[in-house]
Amino acid sequence: MSVGLAGLSTAVALARRGHSVLVLESTSELLHVGAGVALTSATRRWYESEGVLQPNEEACVALDGIELRNWATGDLITKTAANPVGKQNAIHHGDLQLALLSRAQTLPNIEIQMDARVVDIDIEATSITTSSGEQHTADLIVAADGIRSTIKPYVCPPEAAKAVPTNDAAYRFTLPRQLLELQSTSDDSSGADQDALLGLIQRPWASRWDGPGKHVVVYPIRNHQLLNIVLIHPDREDQAEESWTSMADKSHVTEDFRGWDPRLQKLIELAPQKVPNFRLFVHEVCPAWHKGHTVLLGDACHAMLPYLGQGVAQAVEDATALTTVLSLIESPSQIPLALQAFETSRKERVAEIQAATYQAQTKLHLKDAEAQRIRDDDRKAAGQQKQNSDVVQMQQQYWVWDAAEVAARVLRGLLV
Ligand SMILES: Cc1cc2nc3c(=O)[nH]c(=O)nc-3n(C[C@H](O)[C@H](O)[C@H](O)COP(=O)(O)OP(=O)(O)OC[C@H]3O[C@@H](n4cnc5c(N)ncnc54)[C@H](O)[C@@H]3O)c2cc1C
Repeated sequence: MSVGLAGLSTAVALARRGHSVLVLESTSELLHVGAGVALTSATRRWYESEGVLQPNEEACVALDGIELRNWATGDLITKTAANPVGKQNAIHHGDLQLALLSRAQTLPNIEIQMDARVVDIDIEATSITTSSGEQHTADLIVAADGIRSTIKPYVCPPEAAKAVPTNDAAYRFTLPRQLLELQSTSDDSSGADQDALLGLIQRPWASRWDGPGKHVVVYPIRNHQLLNIVLIHPDREDQAEESWTSMADKSHVTEDFRGWDPRLQKLIELAPQKVPNFRLFVHEVCPAWHKGHTVLLGDACHAMLPYLGQGVAQAVEDATALTTVLSLIESPSQIPLALQAFETSRKERVAEIQAATYQAQTKLHLKDAEAQRIRDDDRKAAGQQKQNSDVVQMQQQYWVWDAAEVAARVLRGLLV
């Protein structure tokens, strides 16, 4: 396991149920990088129940809904309020990782070793070797080592372990509230409505602009003190790397979003000179999630496009399902059976969400102006009938899922 969100979530859940956990992380220190991540209402509740987030957590903003805007004019197309199931929560990736780390440090049965890159695994012996030559043997190895997983090729066919480019990349940055407040009192000739700009951070709403081949999502995080801005754009291979620390020159962002809503152009103007840029890769549905006593989870297993805000939710469902099946077995010899139940309970669900993220990509990035008009008219009509529209509906469709119940049911079926 590592200190990614999937690894730490699983470590905390297992340790709280009495297991001893060793976390091996390749980086030497936890860098507070990335930007906002979405937590579904169920994911937020799970983090509260595990003592990672507090009910009145200031790091999170519970969003009342999403406003969809015309990409060029900024005109409001429709507003979709949070559904009865609950609200989407927004948090900085780094804040959530720190909250997980703090929680892990309160649990005496978790040991975390930084600068411990796993370089080899012996599946038969359930042991791994780190770059310093240290060997560790355990009852179970959980590979939560992200999209470029070292362990995945040992568990499933190497061709299925390859990350696949999606031809999209994401510029991500945050702006402090103070900067936006300062901006609102200054003279400005950009054509951006200053109050509306400030409203983006003051109000608990997300906003999205879907344009040809691109889209932008903006929402407040950290108790409305930071504005999170994600600009999805076609991947230029020369520009972005598959790394959370890769940067693009601001001029590329300006160029890519020229002609968009003046508000967005203003936000880009306020961005730092170097903007984090990340090529979006995915894994195709993984044919095998476990081998012997080794199991894959999180992005190592099913990295997906972030367009339905399901990356963390699926990692947490993995953690829930895995801890459930491990709590129901009576001896380590039943671990392969438990892992089989884990895989069966998760595979179909994850494949369905992965497929939906591709549909969302198509819907968000329509290039033809007439197709965009029809889509946006449909959204407006849905809004007038108090219905959620397309991608929002798709997103919320996946919010209710009892990963523990499904995993337990599958395991009980295998045990008879
Ligand atoms: C630094 C960072 C910033 C991110 N920021 C955002 C964001 O702003 N918004 C967003 O939507 N998503 C972000 N993500 C992705 C998001 O966290 C994941 O999609 C999701 O949470 C599932 O995470 P994961 O733990 O499975 O994988 P990851 O988050 O990729 O974590 C994998 C971990 O494994 C470690 N690791 C890799 N190889 C080895 C090895 N051989 N030995 C030991 N350790 C290893 C990595 O250093 C990393 O800590 C970020 C990921 C990272 C790593």
